[in-house]
Amino acid sequence: MSIGRHRATADLRHTATLGVLGGGQLGRMLALAGAPLGVRFRFLDPDPDAPAGDVGELIVGRFDDAAALSRFAEGLDAITYEFENVPAATARWLAAQRPGIVSPPPNALAVAQDRLEEKRAFERAGLAVPAYAAVSSVDELRKAIEGPIGLPCVLKTRRMGYDGKGQAVIRSHGEIGVSFEDVARHLRVPNGSPEQDVGRAGESANGASGVELLVEAFVPFAREVSAICVRGAGGETHFYPLTENTHSGGILRTSIAPATGPESVTFRQIRSNIDRLLADMEYRGVLAIELFVVEEGKGGVRMLGNEMAPRVHNSGHWTMDGSVTGQFENHVRAVLGWPIGSTSHLPVEGSGTVWGMVNLIGGPIPDPASMPREPWMRLHLYGKAARRGRKIGHINACAVSRADLERRIGWIRGSIPAATAD
Ligand code: AMP
Repeated sequence: MSIGRHRATADLRHTATLGVLGGGQLGRMLALAGAPLGVRFRFLDPDPDAPAGDVGELIVGRFDDAAALSRFAEGLDAITYEFENVPAATARWLAAQRPGIVSPPPNALAVAQDRLEEKRAFERAGLAVPAYAAVSSVDELRKAIEGPIGLPCVLKTRRMGYDGKGQAVIRSHGEIGVSFEDVARHLRVPNGSPEQDVGRAGESANGASGVELLVEAFVPFAREVSAICVRGAGGETHFYPLTENTHSGGILRTSIAPATGPESVTFRQIRSNIDRLLADMEYRGVLAIELFVVEEGKGGVRMLGNEMAPRVHNSGHWTMDGSVTGQFENHVRAVLGWPIGSTSHLPVEGSGTVWGMVNLIGGPIPDPASMPREPWMRLHLYGKAARRGRKIGHINACAVSRADLERRIGWIRGSIPAATAD
C-alpha cells in the first residue's frame, strides 16, 4: 500500500523549488527547514555574501531589476519573501508574471509596509490599537497631540521603519518641532530610476510622496508579546503559543514561550480577530503580530496591536527546537500548499517545556567547539560576519519552569558576549 500521491515531476531528487525574495538569515533557516522535505531553494538578494547563499542558489540582483527577477522566477513552484521591505510592486510584478504562486499575497506585504494601513487592517478585524493619526506637517502633528493623541506619544515613519529606527517619543510640546524633523530625516528618497513596471521601494500606496508619518499615543505596556500564526492554503489558521519578548535599543533580545499571565487568556479571545485579519488579506504563510499588553484593574489585561510581519519572525525562532513543526517548516508548507504541521510546543525529557530564545548580536561569533555543552540549549549561527548591531545567531533553550528558564537565559547572557552586545 502506498501512502499519499506520487509526484509526477521528472526531478526525483526534489519535491519543489521555492523562490525567496531576500537571502538573509530568515531565508537560510527556511532552506534548512525545507531541505528534509526535499525542497530546493533559490534566493534573490543584492548582496553577493547573503547568508542564504550557503544553503541554496543565490541570484545576485536588485529587487527592481526586471532581468534578475525573470531569471529568479524561472521554473519556481512558489515564491515568498523573507524580508518585509521587498517593494510591494516587485511582488505584484512577479504575481502578474506567475499567477497564483506568490504568497503571502502582495497586498499583505503592502499593508505591512505602511503603519497606517496596518492599523486600519487591525481595526477592521476587530483588534484594538493605540490611538493614532497620520500626519505630514508639524502643524498636523501639533493638532493631533492637542486633540486625541495627547502626550507622551510616539512619532513614526509610515514606511521603512524597523527595529525602532525612524521613531521618536515626544514627551513635551517643546519637543514637537525637533522630533518631527528628526523622524522625517529617516525617510529615504528612492535612488536611481528603477524600471517602470517593477516599481520603487518606499513608494506609497496612493503614489503620493512627501513626509508621511504616524503619531500614536504612548502605551504604558507591562509586556510585549507576539502571536505567531500560520494560515494554510485551505484557509485554516494555526497558532503557536503566545511569545513574550524583551527589546533593548529597539532590537529584540529575548523571547519566552508560552507566555503565561492574563494575556494568555486574552490571547484566546482575540484569536478569532487575528483569524479574521488573515482571512481579510487572503493570507497564506506565517504571520507575526506584535502586541502590547496593558494591565487593567483586577488582574485583567488589554492587548493592543502594534505591528505585523508578513513572514517568519525573530520572536518565533524558539519554535525551531520547541515545536513539533517550527515556523520555518510551516511557512514552507503553507506557501507550497502542503498541510500545516502541528504548532504545539514540545516537552523535553528532564529539561522542561518552557522555551526561550536569546539573540546573538554584534559579536564575537561563538565557537561551537568551545561552547559549553548543555543539553538544554542549541546554538544557531547565521553565517554572517560579526558587525556591531547585526544579528549573527541565536540560542534556543528550554527549562522546567519560567524561573528556571530566566536563570538559564541569565547564564547564557553572562557567558556569551554576543548575547549582551549591542
Ligand atoms: P515598532 O517599530 O513599532 O515595533 O517599535 C519599536 C519598539 O518601540 C516597540 O517594540 C516598543 O517597545 C516601542 N513602541 C512602539 N510604539 C509604541 C507606543 N505606541 N507606545 C509605547 N512604546 C512603543
